[in-house]
Amino acid sequence: MSLDFPLQRVLRTTEVHIKKLNILGIRTVRDLLEFFPRATESTEITANFQNITMGAKNTVSGILCDVRQEKTARGETITKAALILDGAVTLEVVWFQTPYILKNLKDESQVFLVGKVDRTYGKVQILNPEVHLNRNVHVGKLRAIYPESPPLTSKWFREKIAGLLLLAKDFVEILPSEILEAENFISKKEAVKQVHAPDNMEMWQKARDRLAFEEIFVIQTRVMREKFLREQDAQNPYLVKFDAEQVKQDLKKIPFQLTTAQKKCLLIILKDFERDRPAHRLMQGDVGSGKTIVSFLSALPILRSGAQVTFLAPTEILAKQHFRSALKFFNPEFSVELLTGSVTLSNKKKIKGKLKNGDIQILIGTHAILTADTEFKNLGFAVIDEQHRFGVEQRSRLQKNHTHLLAMTATPIPRTLALTIYGDQDLCRIDELPPGRKKIITRVISDTKTITKMNLFIDDQIGKDHQIFWVCPLVDESDKIEAKNVKEEFDRIANEVFPKRKVEFLHGRMKGKDKDAIMEKFKNKEFDILVSTSVIEVGVDIPDATVMVIENSERFGLAQLHQFRGRIGRNEFQSYCFLMVGKKDDAQKERLKALERSNDGLYLSEIDLKLRGMGELYGTRQSGLPDLKCADLTDLDLLQSTRDWAINILKQDLTLKKFPALKEKVESSEVYF
Ligand code: ADP
Ligand code: MG
Repeated sequence: MSLDFPLQRVLRTTEVHIKKLNILGIRTVRDLLEFFPRATESTEITANFQNITMGAKNTVSGILCDVRQEKTARGETITKAALILDGAVTLEVVWFQTPYILKNLKDESQVFLVGKVDRTYGKVQILNPEVHLNRNVHVGKLRAIYPESPPLTSKWFREKIAGLLLLAKDFVEILPSEILEAENFISKKEAVKQVHAPDNMEMWQKARDRLAFEEIFVIQTRVMREKFLREQDAQNPYLVKFDAEQVKQDLKKIPFQLTTAQKKCLLIILKDFERDRPAHRLMQGDVGSGKTIVSFLSALPILRSGAQVTFLAPTEILAKQHFRSALKFFNPEFSVELLTGSVTLSNKKKIKGKLKNGDIQILIGTHAILTADTEFKNLGFAVIDEQHRFGVEQRSRLQKNHTHLLAMTATPIPRTLALTIYGDQDLCRIDELPPGRKKIITRVISDTKTITKMNLFIDDQIGKDHQIFWVCPLVDESDKIEAKNVKEEFDRIANEVFPKRKVEFLHGRMKGKDKDAIMEKFKNKEFDILVSTSVIEVGVDIPDATVMVIENSERFGLAQLHQFRGRIGRNEFQSYCFLMVGKKDDAQKERLKALERSNDGLYLSEIDLKLRGMGELYGTRQSGLPDLKCADLTDLDLLQSTRDWAINILKQDLTLKKFPALKEKVESSEVYF
């Protein structure tokens, strides 16, 4: 038998159990042994009454006698027995359900019971205890407690894993020996054994620490290796000297003053262009913080030196928006073109031809740019807007040899992620909004009286020629959670709530073209209220929108809601965000109230991370991190030390040939970013 054996061949268990395991991604012996317990509990045996802790779970041993069934006053059948401890003290044992195990039990046999012991009506009782006939994996010492999902109980895991634990010896050591020594770690085999069947609390903790380290270390090694390899391959960056006088001139040409944060980021990016390797930077800034102008200004020196620049946007409408701004900003000095999916084939060909011979200096577009036949004469700088909407693959296609890369995102990046999956990128942050923006007034709303008031208020806003975003969570047919369907909601809002106002709707299953058309009409103020799913196009500017209503807001993470509301408040008027809570759920209301208080995306994302984990922030796939089994992502010390070690090891051997087991693990680990 080996670690790679499929479980259905080695376990004696039911089809239902196997199915559930598969859902959890547990298929082989290795998977099962790497399914780590979340906690432990002591089942040290007490035979003496004095040693029992009242009001707590105890493991007691004694002689069971007088097993009998009784009817309660309510007519339910219960099982009772007496357990005689050392010194002839008797505990009363009560089972509310009749345990099948009692059938095999002879009166006056020795048993081990695990359950809560308490005083009730003057008697000392143990309630609903587990029964064990001998010392086994469940009683006698520390036992593991697993994340349970029926029918997989901790008892089931303990028994099945105990039967396979011998195979822990086949686990290969992944950590280089110098790390094991320096950090005083136990071996992998030992760690796997001790985490499932710990000798004592200290060993369990040691096992956890070591396994957590390995988990994060592999991610760090993978991310940092990618960075070092990239830098090795691209030794000849497109060099542009930083010219402070020129920057001053450029800044005079724009109609407003950059914020300090914008200036800081601009300088950092321009300095990237004179380093010994191509830039690979991620610029984060809340919605409306003014990332676009920073990217435009950074492009100028590249263009002046004769190289080309490209701007990528995730949607056609955004690309068009950038195109219009770019025409204003760069024309007539530099030629700008737009390349999206809806450009005709012959025009595409023309554009690509001009791009190849250098007649086009700036190309703005969508994924359509990323086809194999798009050739630049000399691409010096690529900007990717809303970078999480592009895959790694797609991004790397732009970064051939010397091209500088600037990705932009409104998604906040907590320190934990900056230290892990974003560890290979340089980060900079625009952490302030342009002056004059009013703080969006945000209210959590749940009762009908307030909803009526809100609707009157909204009608008043429309009367002032303002526009409204009305967001309801996307519901697809398979989605069982009770939430409102966009179409239904649209009908209700258009016909019942605001019959005199013009309402349109938008959802994710509409064609890109139709979506763009609706957004275009909204922008041109052809209607008042846009009812949409959460797909409302990122980044699209609707200057006169002052209200955003978000239904079932409890279904979103705080950072996500914060990004939604960033789409309003882009003008001199006061803007409002109403967070409607579907269910009367006080905990949810409390969570959402953070949005009433705070306007800081990073702070909100950190609350999310604590409360709801990674998936909430980025979507599980986008989060880049596989499900962590042991490691705690908020453990900054662990993140830092794993990162330092990863760099240390990679500096010794970037190929990892000296560390074959690590190499294999790193190359097979699933990290998306
Ligand atoms: P985002 O960071 O969300 O992409 P944009 O780049 O679209 O934000 O900028 C939002 C709006 O703010 C634009 O209309 C832009 O012209 C304007 N803007 C950007 N920077 C400033 C500034 N320093 N002062 C005033 N307005 C600014
Ligand atoms: Mg933007």
